Amino acid sequence: MLVAVVVLLSLLVSACNSGGVPTTPSDTVFPTTPPGNSSPVTVVPPVTGAVLSIAMPIDGADIASNAFGLLPFGYHGADHAGGGHSGWDIEYRQGAQVRAAADGVVQAIEPDIIVPGRTKVTIEHALGAHIYRTVYANLSSIREQIILGGAVVRGQPIGVAGTVTATIAATAVTYAMSHFQVDDFEIHREGVDPKAVSPEPFLNAEGRALFDRIWLRSAFAQEPTEPFISMSRDQRFPLTRTWRLDSGDGPAGLSFTRTSGVAADHGYLVLTQSGTAIESGAVTLRVLARPFATIDLVTPTGPRLGLYDIVGDQMRLALGSPGAPRPADLGAASVYRTTRPVLSERVSRHAGDTRVEGPSP
Ligand SMILES: [Zn+2]
Repeated sequence: MLVAVVVLLSLLVSACNSGGVPTTPSDTVFPTTPPGNSSPVTVVPPVTGAVLSIAMPIDGADIASNAFGLLPFGYHGADHAGGGHSGWDIEYRQGAQVRAAADGVVQAIEPDIIVPGRTKVTIEHALGAHIYRTVYANLSSIREQIILGGAVVRGQPIGVAGTVTATIAATAVTYAMSHFQVDDFEIHREGVDPKAVSPEPFLNAEGRALFDRIWLRSAFAQEPTEPFISMSRDQRFPLTRTWRLDSGDGPAGLSFTRTSGVAADHGYLVLTQSGTAIESGAVTLRVLARPFATIDLVTPTGPRLGLYDIVGDQMRLALGSPGAPRPADLGAASVYRTTRPVLSERVSRHAGDTRVEGPSP
C-alpha cells in the first residue's frame, strides 16, 4: 500500500505545477523570518488594491472523485515534502474543460515543465495596483480562443484537464486533473512558488458551495495529519495530530504521526481521556475504498479494521475490536474533532480588509 501511495503521489506531483519564481510585474520581495515549527513565516504586505474574487475552475457537472477529488493547499507528500503543495489539485471528469476562475488577461501559455506534452496557462488579474495570477497546469489541450494577451472571462473554458493513470493498491486508476494555483504579488515566501497562497479565502459564494461538494468526497493518504483545505507549507516533521472523541463509543482519543513529508504512512496511539497512550501501532489506509475509505490500526496482536471519513476538523470513525470484522458502514461511527491551526504565515492585508489564509470557520 505504501508503495502504491508513493507511486500515486509521484504521479500527482509530476502532474503538478511546481514552477519557479514568477516574473514581474510587481515582484517585490518583502522580508521574512526563517520558517520554523513555532515561528512560521509572517508576511504583511502593504495596503493596496482590492481583493480577488474567484469561482472554482471547474463546472459542477465535471467534478469527479475516482482518485482523490481535491488535494489541498499546503499538504506535504513526495515533491511537496519540503515546500508543501502550492495550490489545489482538482480532479475532473475525463475530457472536461478547466475554466477561468476570474476575469483577466492571458499572461502566459507555456509547456508544463513537470509533465512533457502538457501545457500551463497563467491568467493575470489586476485589481488596481494589486496583481494576482491564477495558474492552470497539466492541460492536455488549449482552446483556440485562449491567446497570449487576450482577455478571458470567469467560467470561460481554457483547455482540457490532462489524464493521469496510477496504480493504487493494485488497482489501476485513470483520472483527469489540473493543478490550480493563486499567486498574490503582494506575498513572498522563500522557495518554490513564492507567491502562491491558498485559493480558499478568495472563493465567491457559488465557488465555495461547489468547493464544499468536492471536498466532502475528497480523500487522500495524508489527511489524518493534514486534514484541512489550507495548511502551513512550512510544516516540520515528525508531524502529530490528535483527534478527540466528540460523540460515540470509540476510544477517547487517537493521535496520528507521520515521520516525514515524503512518507504517507502513519503511526497511531489510542489515548485515554487524560491523554495517556494505551495502545500503539501502524496505520494502513485505503483511501480508494468505496463507499468509504478504510483504516486499519495494526497492533502486534492483530488489526482493528475500520472505516473512516475525514472532512476538515471532523473524522467519523467506525472501528472494530481486534479480530472483529470491518464495520459495514459509518452508521454507528464515533465522531472525532481536531484543532484547526492558526496560520500566521499567509497574512495578506488589503484595503479595509485583513485576510488570514487559514481554514475558514
Ligand atoms: Zn498541484
